[in-house]
Amino acid sequence: MSLSKRSWAEPFKIKMVELLKMTTPAQRQKAIKEAGYNTFLLKSEDVYIDLLTDSGTSAMSDQQWAGMMLGDEAYAGSKNFYKLEKAVQKYYGYKYLIPTHQGRGAENILSQVMIKKGDIVPGNMYFTTTRLHQELAGGTFADVIIDEAHDSESLHPFKGNVDLGKLDKLVKKYGAKKISYVCVAVTVNLAGGQPVSMQNLKELRQYTNKHGIKVMLDMTRIAENAYFIQQREKGYAKKSIAAIVKEMCGYTDGATFSGKKDALVNIGGFLAVNDKDIYEDASNMVVVYEGLHTYGGMAGRDMEAMATGIEESVQDEHMKARVGQVLYLGDSLLEAGIPIVLPVGGHGIFLDAKRFLPHIKQDQFPAQALAAELYVDSGVRAMERGIVSAGRNKKTGDHYYPKLELVRLTIPRRVYTQAHMDVISESVQHVYEHRDKVKGLKMVYEPKYLRFFQARFEKLK
Ligand SMILES: *Cc1c(COP(=O)(O)O)cnc(C)c1O
Repeated sequence: MSLSKRSWAEPFKIKMVELLKMTTPAQRQKAIKEAGYNTFLLKSEDVYIDLLTDSGTSAMSDQQWAGMMLGDEAYAGSKNFYKLEKAVQKYYGYKYLIPTHQGRGAENILSQVMIKKGDIVPGNMYFTTTRLHQELAGGTFADVIIDEAHDSESLHPFKGNVDLGKLDKLVKKYGAKKISYVCVAVTVNLAGGQPVSMQNLKELRQYTNKHGIKVMLDMTRIAENAYFIQQREKGYAKKSIAAIVKEMCGYTDGATFSGKKDALVNIGGFLAVNDKDIYEDASNMVVVYEGLHTYGGMAGRDMEAMATGIEESVQDEHMKARVGQVLYLGDSLLEAGIPIVLPVGGHGIFLDAKRFLPHIKQDQFPAQALAAELYVDSGVRAMERGIVSAGRNKKTGDHYYPKLELVRLTIPRRVYTQAHMDVISESVQHVYEHRDKVKGLKMVYEPKYLRFFQARFEKLK
């Protein structure tokens, strides 16, 4: 018999496991009711497969764990800092490194150093903490992502791209001096993990050079972005992820980074820049908010684990398995006719709750109801990204009604198996088959800020 199909699998084997509590549907009914139908309020021990986020939830390798024992917990000049600095220079090419406790720490420092009151900060779609720090520093975020990013059914291969026409309009309207820098996220989290093309980065570099504007990456998922460039962009099929990552950084002036995603650690982040003056301002500022510039809020052992994680994150086999697992789940759901955001992105699957539950009006929280239903069905925990996350208009007091009403199934790195993906897919399919019975929700408690974290709901009759 000749076999045409050759399967691939993860480039690792499992050395240690974390046992999970198995629950019954009746126990999960009780747990989600007590949690006010909000998956953020569930106890982690009541969750079977946790797809709430891919942030800080990765499994570390034996090399990373071994590195934890090499922590040099000196206040100043820890050897782990120099190892991390070397990794950042080698894999990303930036000259200067400032460690921070996580990504938002770096966003705070960068915003305070580079944004002046009244500035405009263009970005390819916002990220929650990034935009908040820009605003707190006196800037105004302006969205310059291409229109396709806002359309859940557009099949554009690089939905994260910057629209240079939109950027040019801002430059003409406000003048280049009013632009602090262009913030480019690779990949774009809120668009569903959508990548930016190398061509787009090159053109952005040419444009900004002409106008004397800096480009700062939010490089939290840069290796995942590089994988999509390798797979989809002409001329990159034979280049390594490591080479693509370095080329991407080469078109920019610096970056903020959350180590909790690509870099396979549970905590950590950094700011990296090429400009000495920016570095000096930032390394002074970090002392105020994070810690001395050679630890910035991280333990030595955590810097060691992150240095190793960065190296592991740019290995081709790792990224093929990482994104491959997300695509595997996406294909399985697509085959079953489940409405999801396309194309499938790098870190998760986004269910389209408007198409999944067309009988539930948006102000009865279809995505919130769907996430709760999925948990009851199988113990899978997802996250709402729709009207609850969007919040209210401060002036009118009304809900914002976002175009996209989604449930995010985020896949942690190196944590779950293909069998887990099958269980997830079957559970989504089961809920889909019985979707007519899913009821909407009523919000009975609403906190003032970022309500999706703590809001409570009851089921409508
Ligand atoms: C997670 C994340 C951040 C913030 O990083 P933290 O480590 O959570 O502070 C910034 N940008 C993007 C795109 C992210 O996904």
